[in-house]
Order: sequence, then structure tokens, then C-alpha cells
Amino acid sequence: MTVTRRQTVFAGLDQPQAWPATRGRPQPKRLDASLDTLPGVGPTLRRRLAKLGLETVRDLLEHRPRRYEAAVPEVAIAALGGEDEVAIAGEVLNVNARRRGRLTIVTARISDGTATVGATWFNQPWLADQLRPGVHVRLRGKPGRYGFDVKSYDLGDGEATADFAPVYPAGEEISPQKLRALVAAALPRAGDYWDPLPAELRIRDNLPLKSDALVAIHRPEAEGEAERGRRRLAFEELLVLQLGIARRAAERERTLAQALGEPGELIVRYRKLLPFALTPYQEKAVREIDADLVRAVPMQRLLQGDVGSGKTVVALYALLRAVENGRQGALMAPTETLAEQHFLTVADLCFELGVTCALLTSASSKRERDAATGADVVVGTHALIQEGVELRDLAVAVVDEQHRFGVEQRKALTQGRVPHVLHMTATPIPRTLALTVYGDLAVSEIAKPPASRKPVVTSWIAEERSSEAYTRLTRLLREGRQAYVVCPLVEASDTTVARAAEAEAERLRGAELREFRVGCLHGRMKPGERRELMARFKARKLDVLVATTVIEVGVDVPNATVMIVQEADRFGLAQLHQLRGRVGRGAEQSYCLLVTRAREELTESARQRLQALVDTTDGFELAEVDLDLRGGGALLGTRQSGLSDLRFARIRFDRPLLERARAAAAELGLAPGPLQDEVDALFAGTDPDALA
Ligand code: ADP
Ligand code: MG
Repeated sequence: MTVTRRQTVFAGLDQPQAWPATRGRPQPKRLDASLDTLPGVGPTLRRRLAKLGLETVRDLLEHRPRRYEAAVPEVAIAALGGEDEVAIAGEVLNVNARRRGRLTIVTARISDGTATVGATWFNQPWLADQLRPGVHVRLRGKPGRYGFDVKSYDLGDGEATADFAPVYPAGEEISPQKLRALVAAALPRAGDYWDPLPAELRIRDNLPLKSDALVAIHRPEAEGEAERGRRRLAFEELLVLQLGIARRAAERERTLAQALGEPGELIVRYRKLLPFALTPYQEKAVREIDADLVRAVPMQRLLQGDVGSGKTVVALYALLRAVENGRQGALMAPTETLAEQHFLTVADLCFELGVTCALLTSASSKRERDAATGADVVVGTHALIQEGVELRDLAVAVVDEQHRFGVEQRKALTQGRVPHVLHMTATPIPRTLALTVYGDLAVSEIAKPPASRKPVVTSWIAEERSSEAYTRLTRLLREGRQAYVVCPLVEASDTTVARAAEAEAERLRGAELREFRVGCLHGRMKPGERRELMARFKARKLDVLVATTVIEVGVDVPNATVMIVQEADRFGLAQLHQLRGRVGRGAEQSYCLLVTRAREELTESARQRLQALVDTTDGFELAEVDLDLRGGGALLGTRQSGLSDLRFARIRFDRPLLERARAAAAELGLAPGPLQDEVDALFAGTDPDALA
């Protein structure tokens, strides 16, 4: 299949001047053309496309269909009538476009010799020019209110491609049909791709050209063709990733950090001070960290463990390893709330050990700042790495929930200093994915929480029974427990969100939670206010905390054993799991009540997310579910690498492909070439340390 032949299939679909010379030299620059160079794309559509991350012709061509419609029978127009989707083929007799309010309806009368039918397209006005009388069409759709509702179509000599019509992730503002039409219009430009794969490799592995592979995923002519195209694209993607990983690893081996030797007396005292013994997983993690720290190569380790699994204890261990070598450790958190929480935990232990510990946030004064930079252990937010802050002698940095840090911030932390870095995350990354994204970045995993933990009992309560949620909440509050009420996620400014939270707290104070002390926590509070509020909650001077998602990470109040999440369907799976991690932190049984609208009103994927949360508390299992639900596109955790999402690889299924890519990367090495340019492009504007 070649683009050239495609041209005949799509003849008439596009304005003549928009057709590239597909036989001429590819001109990759043209792929960067804005989407409004396509017919029918005005400012509004352009904005909607941008929301889907689609801005250039390249973006659109690399927008992978989530699935393909199954083939449907082709019927004679005279035999049309049922409810099912079918295909018809025929000739255009006449065309008519009209407007109904904001809707444009294009109708074409189609004849196949047995009868005629009026086929309708919505909001694709440019079709009126392309559907000329005499043009052959093959349409897929079903009889509808306005005749034959077209779902997908081919114009031209009527190949049966509409049978495998691609279905794109489209969002709410753009219909899948519209997206399909746009991709079809952009497809001839696939000829502008250079294939970066070395020819020998492509021939040996029998891989199609990149441009052909793109055409195949958007316009497969036979079953299996789309998959073959996808695999070609996924292979390149994984190969570039593996080459990038190899390059970072090579660069890291060339930098030097201070080797910190074996653990000493301070660590012995730290272990004695802890009121519990480390779990086997924590022991394994600290052994692995120790093994990294005896080397002069800077540590780049990912510590992953579910919420509440006990990562902080391990993090402090790593920081103290710096201190006992006379150097400095820093712990960075993504939010002030979280930094303060960490500080409360860490400062007590440090004090007992005679180690100085300071909190450094954007609220710190210049003087506090200067004092803090000299402490043995510094805990803070990104203020830690702001200009003017010069840490005395950083040897170990722990970056908590690193995916919340901007690339620039992480870069600045290691600028000019080469500390050992431990990245901590509570967003579990499936093992398959960790291997792909982090390559040889070492991973330590706390797979099980301390045994004293009871899994959180999770219920999903549809709205008509939401009073039930508050009945259960008040019962537990009367028993002396504390609770969180999480306000709905709204896409608005911090201020609006804060106001909504305040209003909800006020409402609850006068209604369901009349007899209790209700506080409100949100992102607009001053750090001092927030600290005071958290302290009051911790000291049980408040019963309920109404909060926005600022409590998502890190808040640790063991007596808080129940959480209500309002409009839980609006949250992502990972986020709900994080929220749920705020309860179940003590020995008492904890509960998480997910309140939503009626089940029927939810999308299928929301229902599956909520059910998965009810079914399991295992973060790794949930990560796999999330991966499935998102079709492997926007992969959970990939953001952490600073890389854009993998578009074509489906990590759960592409293990053999990944292995091949790793082998090919090893074979190709780091020699310059078009693939290394792709690696440059991949790293442009991303975090150079993430892959290390
Ligand atoms: P994470 O940071 O992974 O969410 P934390 O480190 O905050 O988890 O630990 C959660 C709670 O578990 C803390 O109250 C901590 O004191 C406790 N904890 C940590 N390790 C152990 C252990 N080995 N045995 C018992 N309790 C532990
Ligand atoms: Mg923690």
C-alpha cells in the first residue's frame, strides 16, 4: 500500500492545491503546519483540537485510533430498514447543504440501482464541494431521522475501507466522525515523513515505511493491516526510548558523586529510635540504596510503594546517610501541605538524633531561608531550588511525588551539584511499564504495607442514596473517629475551587454535619493558616476536614478513618486511589465512600474505574486496570519520565516488541544518525534526569 495509490481513493476529498506531491521529496517541515491548513478547520475547531493535544498535521497523523469498527454487511439500498449498522455503495445524484441553527447538514441522494436514499452528514460543510454528482461512495451508517446517518465513508472508487473505520479518542467537543474526516484529509501528507529507521534494519525486520504504517493505522484495507502499521510505529517509539535510556546511562556513568561508604553509627541510632522494625520490603529498599551510595556514580533510584506503605522512613534513611558523612540531605515535596507534613514527621526524629532539620517554603523569610540552607536536613517545596537558595552541601536529594515537579524544577535541583537522587512515588507503575520508561533506572519497591494495616473498605454510593454516606460518616464520627469530605473536582481557578470548598463546608455545618467541628482545607490558604488547620485536625480539635484535592498526597492523620469523595466519577483512577490513601493509616478499620450520580448517568469507563476501586486496594493492580481503560495511550506514570505519552506502544502487549527494540538499540549504539535526532527531539524540553 502506498500513499500514491491512496490518492485515487481520496480524490475529491481535499482541495487540489492542498495535495502534496507524494512522489516528490518528503518535506518533514510541512508536518508542522497548523491544522487550520486543512479544509474546514476554523478558529473554533482549531481550539477544540488543541484541547486534545492536536495542533499540527503531525499530531493528527500520529493520533492513534483506539479501535476499529467491526465489518458490517453491505446491503442494497432497497433493502435498508433495520436498526443495525450497514454499508451501502452507490453514486451521488445530487447534493444539498443547509443550516439548522448551529448545525450544518449535508445531504446527498445516493443511488445503487435498486433505490435511492438521502445520506446525511452533520457539521462537515466542506463535504458539499466534494460530493459531486457522479462520485462513487461507500457509506457506513444506519437509517436515521434524516435518511441514512453516515458514520464513516469513502469517496472515489469505493474500496471497502469504511469497513475498518477507525475510532479516535475524540473527547466531548469533537465527534469521532469529524475527527475521522480530518484525519482522512490530512492523510496524504503522510508522504512527508522521513523514515528514521536504518534501511538495513527495516528490511531485515520486514518493517513497512513510516508513512505507509501511518496510512495503515488510519485506513486499513484488511484486518491485521492496522496492527502491522501500529507495531511498526510502536517499534520506532520504543527504539528511540531505549536509545535515549542508553544515552542517559552513558552520560551518568561519566559524572561523579561522593561515595558515602557503609552505614555508620547514626543509622544504628535511627533504627533504634523507630518505634517499629522495618518491614522486609523496607529492608530490601535500604539495602539497595546503600549499594548505590557506596559508588561514586550518582544514585538515580525510584522508590515506589503504595500510599501508606512506609516510604518516608526509607527516605529519611537515605537523607541520614548524607548527614553521617558530614554532608546535607534535602527532601522536596510538591506542595506546601505535603512539605509541612514531611517536616512534622522528619523533624521529631531528627531532633532525637541531634540532627538539624529545617523547613524551607515560599513563605520563609530571607533570614529563615539562609538559616535553613545550612541545616543537615532541609525539607521544602520547590522554593528549595529557587534562585538565591544555595544549599550548603547537598549529597542526597529525595524528590517526593516527582511527577508533580516541573521539568525545570528538577533540573535546577541537580544543577551544578551532583547529589544522589532518590525519587519517591506512590503512583504505582506497572512493572512492564517501569522497564520501558525508566530502562535501567533502578527501582526499589515496597510491595506491601506494614502488617498492622487493614485494607480500606470502599463503597460506591449512587446519588439517590448519598444520605446513606453521611449516616455512616456521622456514626463513625460519634465513635470518635475523624473524617475527610473531598469536594468535587472542578476545572477552574484555585480561587473558585477554594470558594466552592468553603461553601460546601458551610453547607455541611448547617446540615449533615451540624453536630461536628468542620474545617476547610484548600490551596488558597496561607501556609501558616494551613499548618494551623492541619495541626488542629491532627490534635482532634476538628472532626471533619472538607478539602479539595490538596489532601491528595501525604497528609497523615491515623485517626481519620473515613472519607467521602463527592462526584467521585470526575476523578481519575490514580487520583482516587491517592485520595483513599489518606485513610487506613492507623490500626482501625477505615472506609472510603465514593458518591456519584446515578450509575446509568456515568460513562462506561467511569463505572469501571469506580468498580475497580471497590474491588481492590492494590495500587499495582489498579495501575494495570488504568492502563487497560486508557487503551495504553496516556499511560499512567509516563509523565513521570518527563516524556510525552507513548502513542503507539501498548506496553502490556508489546513485551516482545520491547525486547526487540532493546536488542536493536544495543546493536545501533550511540552513533549519530536520524534516530539520534529523534532522541534529541524526545528529550527536548524534558527532564534529562528522569531516564538517567
Ligand atoms: P508513605 O510515605 O509510603 O505513604 P509513610 O512513610 O507515611 O507511608 O508511612 C505511613 C505510616 O506507616 C506512618 O505512620 C509510619 O510511621 C508507619 N510505618 C512506616 N513503616 C512502618 C513499619 N515498618 N511498621 C509499622 N508502621 C510503619
Ligand atoms: Mg508519605
